[in-house]
Amino acid sequence: MGRRQLWRRVSSIPMVTYFKPAGSPMTVLEEVQLLVEEAEAIRLKDFEKLEQEESAQKMNISQSTFSRLLDSARQKIADALLNGKAIRIEGGKFEMAMRRFRCLQGHEWEVPFETMISAPPENCPECETPNIMPLFPPGMHRGGHGRGRHFRGGLPE
Ligand SMILES: [Zn+2]
Repeated sequence: MGRRQLWRRVSSIPMVTYFKPAGSPMTVLEEVQLLVEEAEAIRLKDFEKLEQEESAQKMNISQSTFSRLLDSARQKIADALLNGKAIRIEGGKFEMAMRRFRCLQGHEWEVPFETMISAPPENCPECETPNIMPLFPPGMHRGGHGRGRHFRGGLPE
């Protein structure tokens, strides 16, 4: 246990990760930050219309954690919508359901969530070079320094 609870599994990251109200200058705009796993909670429950139990399973978290994520996500979206704030989708404690990697030689392979959590890859399975990097899906924030962030996806809180 322990580590498993920390990382939420996310299957999809929204293509567009920034929304702003029309006509508001950026300088006066307030912003809410929607975590990637909060966006995933909304996607599973409100868009895919899955039951809470199934949604929680897909994200590898308990139903109470899922419920908290969903509440928080809805509250932020309501705040943005009603108070004219921008929404930025980024950060959180998540790992992709499948993460693609590429080595310097151009070999590509996929690593499932469970492996990313327990033992992220250090070498290319084909040529065994340690020069490997994760390929980020569109919209995934890749800023920051250090291996931890790159390998784990989301930015630390
Ligand atoms: Zn290779």
